[in-house]
Amino acid sequence: MISKLAVFERSVCGCTECKSSCESGKPGMLAPCDIDRIAEYLGLKETTEEFTLKMFQACDDGPEVAISERSDARAPALRPAVRADGSCVFLSDEGRCMIHPVAPFECSRVNACDPVSGAAAMKKLAQAVRDSIDYIMHWTWIRERQNG
Ligand code: SF4
Repeated sequence: MISKLAVFERSVCGCTECKSSCESGKPGMLAPCDIDRIAEYLGLKETTEEFTLKMFQACDDGPEVAISERSDARAPALRPAVRADGSCVFLSDEGRCMIHPVAPFECSRVNACDPVSGAAAMKKLAQAVRDSIDYIMHWTWIRERQNG
């Protein structure tokens, strides 16, 4: 099932105000299908394993999501990889996002200039991740290889 979050309105801002999160070591969390959208935007004919492993990381710090009526857990989070200095691999030397039109969900919807709906957007993202077998499989595959 393709998540409704696979296609969502992107922010149009191209300013550098959110640059702090791009350099924080914690780039924005991806929605299901974001990896394929980014690969396509960068001109790849298909999303290769090499590209996925080089450009993304599997993290444990997604938003909280209900996994049953009684308990919550943090959603697994796919994020862009970071360089040794903590900056996002998609941040240019000029301090701009190189994939702005297809930037990860959190970059576009939460770290953007309109943060008012950020919490609600992240809640939706957590629910979409919880229900996306493809996202969980990608996260597990990357995590296993990153842990070597
Ligand atoms: S993907 Fe773009 S907006 Fe998101 S953290 Fe990286 S450089 Fe910043």
